[in-house]
Amino acid sequence: MAKKIAILGSTGSIGKNALRVIDALNSSLVKKKTQYEIVALSAHSNVELLAEQARHCKPSFVAITNADYAARLRELVGDLETQVLAGPDSLIEIAELGGVDIVLTAVVGAVGLPAVLAAARKGRTLAIANKEPLVVAGELLTRTVKESGGTILPVDSEHSAIFQAMQAGAREEVSKIILTTSGGPFRKATIADIQNVTLEEALAHPVWDMGPKITIDSATMMNKALEVIEARWLFDMPVEKIEVLVHPESIVHSLVEFVDGLVIAQLGEPDMCLPIQYALTYPSRVRGIGKRLRLEEVGKLTFEKPNLETFRALSLGFEVARAGGTAAAVFNAANEAAVREFLAGRIKFVSIVELIEDCLNKHKARTSVSLEELLEADAWARREVEKRAREHKSIRA
Ligand code: NDP
Ligand code: MG
Repeated sequence: MAKKIAILGSTGSIGKNALRVIDALNSSLVKKKTQYEIVALSAHSNVELLAEQARHCKPSFVAITNADYAARLRELVGDLETQVLAGPDSLIEIAELGGVDIVLTAVVGAVGLPAVLAAARKGRTLAIANKEPLVVAGELLTRTVKESGGTILPVDSEHSAIFQAMQAGAREEVSKIILTTSGGPFRKATIADIQNVTLEEALAHPVWDMGPKITIDSATMMNKALEVIEARWLFDMPVEKIEVLVHPESIVHSLVEFVDGLVIAQLGEPDMCLPIQYALTYPSRVRGIGKRLRLEEVGKLTFEKPNLETFRALSLGFEVARAGGTAAAVFNAANEAAVREFLAGRIKFVSIVELIEDCLNKHKARTSVSLEELLEADAWARREVEKRAREHKSIRA
């Protein structure tokens, strides 16, 4: 038996790990019942790596979303039987392909929303790493999956942990879910300490090796804020039942407390190959390449409350999760735009969250909104951040 997989964003950190996992699953290391066949891959501009991946996996389709690189890609894979698709809509095309068992969404940002929605409409099994679409349009996306008979399997390590821990009881028996966070590079910092943080310091995550956007999100704790909203939709949980706990060792990936007071936690090495593999092999578990946990080597597991003063993003995340509607679209888009400005060296680290908060304050949030209204709110927030980054000297780096 073969499971057919399309990977949206195969050249990123998650995408590359997914290919390593699939190679291992197909190798003799693993007792095989199932083979994993890659039918489509995508990248935005990393055409060399995409071509190399195509040569290795021989997919039927490769999509390059930045059409400027299409000619180069055609040159590089011209001798393969792989069809090249190009432009932003090519992501939707591979998300909708017939006969695909799992669509792994690993592009970065809300730009992945149309493709994941398209796959959801087709009733596909979605292995979701790309959290931003769930933040922006969680209500619409989860409703679409329900209506079309599809499935969502979380890849984000915390949500994979919760998904696994939830299997210990019925949904109504859950009293709360607790998302853990390493605390990022500035866990112990005060507000004063983070005023002059450099790009290099913000990119130095103590535990996880990830793409640049999520690494900055981890430093501001926007990542955890986005994950609160992600959890709210993935598990249909009221925000009041979601908590965040700092756990610097990153061994307990999240916990679920049931009504009787008992808590089920999921533990493992901090290695994204583990949740990626779980989503691909679900409901089975097989031996893989993920590192094994040796608790005697870890020694101590510690937990502390998050510092909401330093990490204002986290409080904002809870507020936005409660507000719903366009607020989450603005929250996410303002962050994407501000992180882009910070990565380009144009604004200060602390300006990221200031810009997000400014946008939220200016925005008149609406609930029960259409996709068009969400996209409008998203576009407005991006314009607003770019304008402020240009015009306000005080936030400049
Ligand atoms: P990366 O930046 O490493 O990779 C992003 C991928 O998306 C690349 O394949 C990139 O192509 C592609 N991409 C970039 N811009 C566009 C665009 N405009 N249109 C289409 N595709 C685009 O990100 P990560 O792998 O770190 O993260 C991916 C997603 O997974 C994010 O949503 C993140 O929050 C989530 N996630 C990541 C974790 C991790 O460990 N990295 C952990 C948990 C969740 P190209 O290479 O050509 O630029
Ligand atoms: Mg996570």
